[in-house]
Amino acid sequence: MATTSCDVAIVGAGLGGCFLALLLGRRGQNVVVIEQGPSVPSAGADFLKPPGLRVLARHGLADLVERHGLRRDTIRYYHDGDPIRECRFPDGGFLIRPYRELVELIYTSCAMEGVEFWFDADIDDIAVGDGRVEELTLSNGRKLRAGVVIGADGTKSAVRRALDIEQQTMPYERLLMRVATVPLTASVAQLNRLYFSSEGWLTYLYPINRDQARVFVGLPPEDDKEIFQDGIPALLDELKKFVTESSDAFNVLQPATWQRIKVSSLRVEAYHKGNAALLGSAAFACHPMTGMGMSYTLHDAEILADVICAAGGDEGLLDRLLQARYEPRRDAHRELIDYGDALAATFRDRAAYLAAFRPELHIFGDAAAPASLPALQLT
Ligand SMILES: Cc1cc2nc3c(=O)[nH]c(=O)nc-3n(C[C@H](O)[C@H](O)[C@H](O)COP(=O)(O)OP(=O)(O)OC[C@H]3O[C@@H](n4cnc5c(N)ncnc54)[C@H](O)[C@@H]3O)c2cc1C
Repeated sequence: MATTSCDVAIVGAGLGGCFLALLLGRRGQNVVVIEQGPSVPSAGADFLKPPGLRVLARHGLADLVERHGLRRDTIRYYHDGDPIRECRFPDGGFLIRPYRELVELIYTSCAMEGVEFWFDADIDDIAVGDGRVEELTLSNGRKLRAGVVIGADGTKSAVRRALDIEQQTMPYERLLMRVATVPLTASVAQLNRLYFSSEGWLTYLYPINRDQARVFVGLPPEDDKEIFQDGIPALLDELKKFVTESSDAFNVLQPATWQRIKVSSLRVEAYHKGNAALLGSAAFACHPMTGMGMSYTLHDAEILADVICAAGGDEGLLDRLLQARYEPRRDAHRELIDYGDALAATFRDRAAYLAAFRPELHIFGDAAAPASLPALQLT
C-alpha cells in the first residue's frame, strides 16, 4: 500500500488534536489526523472556563461555541450540607457545552481548511529512529510519514510509549466516580452545586442544556460496591445525608443509568522528543475538580501551532523551539495537577479544603489573575 506524506500527523481527534489541526490547517500546513474511533470522542468534559474561552475567541470561534451553549457564573460548594464557599466568575462566567458537541464544532471547522481525518485507524507500529518518529503504520497496511508527529492520543498514548517517555499515573483510589444524565430540575437549573461529605462522598449537579442535567457522584470504593449493587434507594439514603438544596433532583436519580468513569492524574517526564510532541491528556491529566484540562490544552495547542509554523520544516529548529517554548508548560501543568490532588485529598475535611481552595486557579488558570477576586467564603 502507498505511503502518504504530510507536514504534520496528529494521533487522536479529541479537543487537543482537532484544535491543533484547525490552527495548522489555517496556516497552510498539510495535516492528517489519525483517530482510532469511528468519529470524534463522545465522552469528556462539559465546562469551558474563561481561559479556554479566550483562546477560542482569539481564533474567531467564540460565537460558534457560544451558540446552543449555556453560560453560568457561580459554583456553590457545600460541606456536610452547609454552604461553605461560592466561586463567582466575572465577565460572563464559563460555558457548559457537552464535550462531543464542542469537539464536533472544531472538527467541522477543520474540513474548510483541508485537514484530512482517518477514522477507525488502528496504529500497528510507530517507527522511531535517531530520536525521531519516522513512520506510522496502520493495521490495514497504510503508512504515513510526517515532518512533525503529535501524540494527542489520550492518557494511554501510543506515541508517548513509542518515544519511550516515562509517565506516572496515579488513580484517585479513594474516590470512585459515577456519572448520569438526567432530566433538569428547578434547583439544578438555578445554580451549580457541588456537595462534599466528611464520609468521603461528593455530588455535583449542573445543567447541560435546557432539558437535561449531569450528576456526578464520587464515593469511597467500598461504598461503591454496596451502593451500586444494592441499587438506587441505598444511593438516595446516602445523598440525603449531605445534599441539602437539590432534593428535587432525587426523583430523577431513581431511574438514572450510572456509568463508572476512571479518573487518574498523569505526569510525564518530557513533552517532546525530536520531531514529536505530546498534547492534552497524553501529556498531563489532573483531577476534574479543577475544571481546567481543556483550557490548558487549548493554550498548549496554540503554542504548538506557533512553534511548528515557526520551525518551517527545520527539525533542528523545531526541537529547540519545543524545548524553549513548549516544555515550560510542564510547570503550569504540574501546578494544576498538584492542585487537583490537593482538592481530592482534602474535600472530606472542611477546614483543610477551604485552606487548599484557590479561586484564581478555577477562574483564571495559569493566566494572570487580577489582585482582587470575586470568590466568597460563606462560613
Ligand atoms: C471525568 C472528567 C471530567 C472532566 N471535566 C473537565 C471540565 O469540565 N473542564 C475541562 O476543562 N476539562 C475537563 N476534563 C479534562 C478534559 O477532558 C481533557 O483535558 C481534554 O479532553 C483533553 O483533550 P484530548 O484531546 O487529550 O482528549 P481525548 O478526548 O482524550 O482525545 C484523545 C483521542 O485520542 C484517540 N486515541 C487514543 N489512542 C489512539 C491511538 N492509538 N490511535 C488513534 N487515536 C487514538 C481517542 O480515541 C480520543 O479520541 C475532564 C476530564 C475527565 C476525565
